[in-house]
Amino acid sequence: MGNYIDLYDGLESEGIHMSNAMTSVIISVLVLAGSRLAVTERQKELIVWLAYQDQSIRGIGTVGFSFNEIPWSKESFPAEKQFLASVIREAVSEAGWLTLDYQPNKARVATLLEKLDDMLKRFEITYVDEQNYAEWKEIFQESFPEGFQLCPRHDALMSEWGCVVCHDS
Ligand SMILES: [Zn+2]
Repeated sequence: MGNYIDLYDGLESEGIHMSNAMTSVIISVLVLAGSRLAVTERQKELIVWLAYQDQSIRGIGTVGFSFNEIPWSKESFPAEKQFLASVIREAVSEAGWLTLDYQPNKARVATLLEKLDDMLKRFEITYVDEQNYAEWKEIFQESFPEGFQLCPRHDALMSEWGCVVCHDS
C-alpha cells in the first residue's frame, strides 16, 4: 500500500514511494507553501490540483501520480517548473507549519521533498500532455465558478471538497 509519485507513466523505478500517512503530510506541506507563494492564476491552478490529491475523499492509497499528470502548460512550462521548485523550497522551510495541529517529521519530510525536487529537475517538457491541463481547466471552472477559495484556518487553496490540510488533521 501507500502511494507512488513517478516521473512519468512507464518510469516507475525512478519515482518515490510513501506511506499513506506520509503522503498526506507531503501534500499538506506542499499546499500550505504553494498557497502562500501562488500569485498568478496558473500558479494557483497547480496548487489546487495538488489539493485534489486528497486521500480522505478519494480513498487511502489512491492519490499517487506521475509528474506528467500535473496540468502543465507548454507555453509557460519553464516558469511553472520554477514555481514548483520554489514551492518545494518553501515547504522545506516549513511555510505554514504553524497552522498545523501536529508537528511533521522534519527530517523525513525534507528527504522526500528533496527527492521530489530531483524528479522535478529531471522532468522535461517533452513529457507534458496538454490534454491534462485542458481537462483540468474544465473541472476547475465547474468547481469554482466564483474563483479560488482559501481555507481561513490554513490559508490553503481548497479543492471542491474543501481543505486538504483540514482533512489531514
Ligand atoms: Zn484548512
